[in-house]
Amino acid sequence: MGGKAGVELLLGRGADINRRDPQGRLAVQLAMSGDEASMVKYLLSLGASSDWTYTDMQDTQGWTPLHWACRNGDVDTVQLLIDSGADLQNENMQLWTPLDVATFSGNGSLAFTLSRLQGSTGTEMKQKILAPGYEHDIGCYSCFFEICGPCYQCKDCREFFLCFRCIEDAAVIHDSNHTFNAIEEGDVDGD
Ligand SMILES: [Zn+2]
Ligand SMILES: [Zn+2]
Repeated sequence: MGGKAGVELLLGRGADINRRDPQGRLAVQLAMSGDEASMVKYLLSLGASSDWTYTDMQDTQGWTPLHWACRNGDVDTVQLLIDSGADLQNENMQLWTPLDVATFSGNGSLAFTLSRLQGSTGTEMKQKILAPGYEHDIGCYSCFFEICGPCYQCKDCREFFLCFRCIEDAAVIHDSNHTFNAIEEGDVDGD
């Protein structure tokens, strides 16, 4: 990816920093697929000034930038978002907090740090997810993360996979006539 230069190029051509993709994600949420805290910092600097809720903006499934950062596991990015005022208690449509996402994604040390942070805010610690999901050796075609937990394979394309988050938006990111199979642990239907 072109990183910061790519974003500057797009913005130079009139792209809107607050434009959402079909899954309701902002550039700052999409940037979580990389490990660049500097990129996130840059995007926040462009967007945060006009709207303080920017860091808690939810996509179609209620995922905030902090949920996505916890999916990624990059500690610097998570710290940056928290320092920018991101809400640790925000729940997505599954009622998962960023801590739940970190735990499910197998980012154990990050989850430990988050649970301590949550505790220190004096609010009741809510953790629903206590163990990581099964890691498939397959990338999600929409968020680009290695699929963790339920994995969905298009019955028509076979080579098209989505994670449990992105399957919810399958109709807007893939052929809406196609249907998906849930794949069990390690059981990919190859052909
Ligand atoms: Zn995905
Ligand atoms: Zn398909």
